[in-house]
Amino acid sequence: MRSSFTALIVSVLTFVASSSASEFFEIKKVADGVYAAIGKPGVLSNGAFIVTEEAVIVVDTHLRPSWARDLITEIRTITDKPVRYVINTHWHNDHTQGNQAYRAAFPTGTEFIAHHHTREDIIGIAIPSMKQNLNDLPSRLSQLKAQIQSRTRPDGTALTEADLAQVQRTLESQERYLSELQSIEITLPTLTFEKSASIHSGSRRIDLLYFGEGHTRGDLFVYLADAKVLISGDMLTGGVPFMRDAIPSAWGPTLEAVEKLDIATVIPGHGDVQTGKGRLQLVIRYLRDLGPAVQRHVAKGASLEETTSAVLQELSAYEKEFPNFRQSLTGPLGNITKTYEELKARK
Ligand SMILES: [Zn+2]
Repeated sequence: MRSSFTALIVSVLTFVASSSASEFFEIKKVADGVYAAIGKPGVLSNGAFIVTEEAVIVVDTHLRPSWARDLITEIRTITDKPVRYVINTHWHNDHTQGNQAYRAAFPTGTEFIAHHHTREDIIGIAIPSMKQNLNDLPSRLSQLKAQIQSRTRPDGTALTEADLAQVQRTLESQERYLSELQSIEITLPTLTFEKSASIHSGSRRIDLLYFGEGHTRGDLFVYLADAKVLISGDMLTGGVPFMRDAIPSAWGPTLEAVEKLDIATVIPGHGDVQTGKGRLQLVIRYLRDLGPAVQRHVAKGASLEETTSAVLQELSAYEKEFPNFRQSLTGPLGNITKTYEELKARK
């Protein structure tokens, strides 16, 4: 107990939150020249940036260009060096849609780097889904306005004052998002790679590493060997692995390869900065248990419903470790469902 308490104190002291004025991010310096940009509520997805003697390297660009512009303002309070490289850990729009802000702010040249599958999937999946979103948003806004006008939910029940204020805030936020989407210019990766690449900037080497499929088929890790910092994208977050676009069976083995790195600090894709490998190892254990548990029930010919209730029971020890555990394991995008579907498809 005592040693874990000491470790906790050390971890609290290690990450010095700056007196950031950012509305959208909490900036935390995790090592010399290495900063986490932790998304505040409503923003959710994180970024990171590395300041060298020559340049700034940014990892992930959030959902909205306006949030990326806010982070650029924060970076400028720390350094006047230009952002030369923007790295996208994977294709999801909450990690890529702010790219254009960097092109606009640094017109003399920023390279956008990703795994080659990520570039393909931005073109093949992210852009069509963004267009779909653009089509769907106006009717969602109308529904919210109708709720406010009638002061009732879609199911006919009355909205409380607090609910009403919440719907109003959602409406305002979504109206701003719609106007950003209407003028979005998708900025694709300009440099892609297959297995690994390194950026040499000033006295620093920044490794971009691909260990295999997981959260998507193109998740890269950014690794600073000198500071033992891993920037993980959504391969590691504060919660249960998010499997909507995942290859569930590959995720665990990919993280097992990552675990061999010397890691003191992780800046995850969502959630707070992590000290050491504890969270990484927890997720590896969880994935090692999840796959075989679902497999056993699939092999017996169990239905999805039967598999879900049995596996929830078998993995209940993890419930205290992860927020929204049950919701994250069940439903169409849940971990059990996605793992079940992958196994069924393979059969
Ligand atoms: Zn993601």
